[in-house]
Amino acid sequence: MDYKITGYEPAQLFHFFEEVSAIPRGSGNEKGISDFLVAFAKERGLDVYQDEVYNVIIRKPASAGAENAPTVMLQGHIDMVCDKLGSVEHDFTTDGIDLVVKDGVLTANGTTLGADNGIAVALMLTVLDDDSIVHPALECVFTTDEETGLVGAETLDKSQISARTMINLDSEEEGVATVSCAGGVVVTYTCPIAREHKTGSTLTLDISGLLGGHSGSDIHLERGNGNLIMARIIDRLMVAGVPAIVSFNGGTKDNAINRECKAVLVYADHAAAEAAAQIAKGIIADVTAELEVFDPGFTCTVEIADNVDVEAMDDKSALALIRALRLAPNGVIRRNVATDGSVEVSSNIGVVATSDDEVKIMLSPRSSITSLQNEFKDRLQTLADVLASTPSLSSSIPAGAMPSIRRSATSLSRAIASSLAPSCASSPFTPALSAACLPRPCTAWTPSPWARRSPMSTPRTRAWSSLLPSASTSCSSTSSSALPRKGRASSSSSHVLADCK
Ligand SMILES: [Zn+2]
Repeated sequence: MDYKITGYEPAQLFHFFEEVSAIPRGSGNEKGISDFLVAFAKERGLDVYQDEVYNVIIRKPASAGAENAPTVMLQGHIDMVCDKLGSVEHDFTTDGIDLVVKDGVLTANGTTLGADNGIAVALMLTVLDDDSIVHPALECVFTTDEETGLVGAETLDKSQISARTMINLDSEEEGVATVSCAGGVVVTYTCPIAREHKTGSTLTLDISGLLGGHSGSDIHLERGNGNLIMARIIDRLMVAGVPAIVSFNGGTKDNAINRECKAVLVYADHAAAEAAAQIAKGIIADVTAELEVFDPGFTCTVEIADNVDVEAMDDKSALALIRALRLAPNGVIRRNVATDGSVEVSSNIGVVATSDDEVKIMLSPRSSITSLQNEFKDRLQTLADVLASTPSLSSSIPAGAMPSIRRSATSLSRAIASSLAPSCASSPFTPALSAACLPRPCTAWTPSPWARRSPMSTPRTRAWSSLLPSASTSCSSTSSSALPRKGRASSSSSHVLADCK
């Protein structure tokens, strides 16, 4: 192969990244990369397992002298998110990624790079390929279809794995070890609506300008949720004068904090709509002031149109919708105050969509504690009973937080540091206590500016232990990755370890 990434270390890691990038591997299209991994293992005489959904496990015995160390499982996913600029010609089902190296930064030509999680694949291949690295027995697990719902990991026959220690290589920030993960479900409430013919004046409320964000990583930021703000306005209008709701639509993804929401109400005449508009403007002013610090771009336009003829929800349907939105849990539900206040339970009302005959409300509740996740599901079922709605639960992801870690971040930090290098027990290495959200660091140590931009700089001759911090943080970006120049300072993590030898 004619490599584009040259002059960077570890050279072999980048070469493997290029080889992986050359194979189309969008979610659901993993046979090619899966077969590549099987061939890789066979060429090196390594034990390999491939299942029917193309998960692959490659096993490598411990290096000389490390035979008594416990087996470690390394894991990453082989699929990637496929997205491109409209102006770029690229077929993700047949074309490899067109890599671009410029000014020490690796990107792709108008497409996603696939560093999430291609760099994990490259890291594992590097370790499997290099017999000079000291390591315990390894089980390298390559899973499929992660981006669409952890399908490969869910399907994998776990009896194939003997390791009791796992390092997941799909993380974000350097110098941060993520030690728990949130479970979640998608809850969809579906309520039938009855409509009746109305004439008069419509009042259209249109919310925009909110920051939004990912409900897994931004729920604690107290940003406005357009669906909830709209429900608040309409609830007040209902107290004032029973409007009929024609439509209520906000959001397209359960896990996105809603940024935009539009509702149309109908009143008997212009005067009634105008009176409602004044009430709405009062609430909008309140919300604007409340969000001034956390979400300053919030706006809501209010428009009246006369002489309309519409099919509006009947009172019962409209009331059920607004009650559901006012009562459904949203935002941070519980934090872990024993450690750093990270979120343990959260919920997000991401989507409200009305059609002619039904309304759908989609929530994304999350928790890192299994019992709390189950309790939360019960609570949402109770709400459904009250609302006479039919909830459906899908995409269940199991929670995973270790009790000892929930009790003390400090002791864990010390434990990690000492396990990496005994004399580093006071290292500022900080674990991320994943919130009720996707694995997301809450705090991190502060390495040097260059080190921060060097997630892949672990020299390949270094001992196995030095791979740990780099490996756990190197899947950092789908759009670009900074490359360390040959001979430049190594990453912060390996730097600290070097100091401690
Ligand atoms: Zn990933």
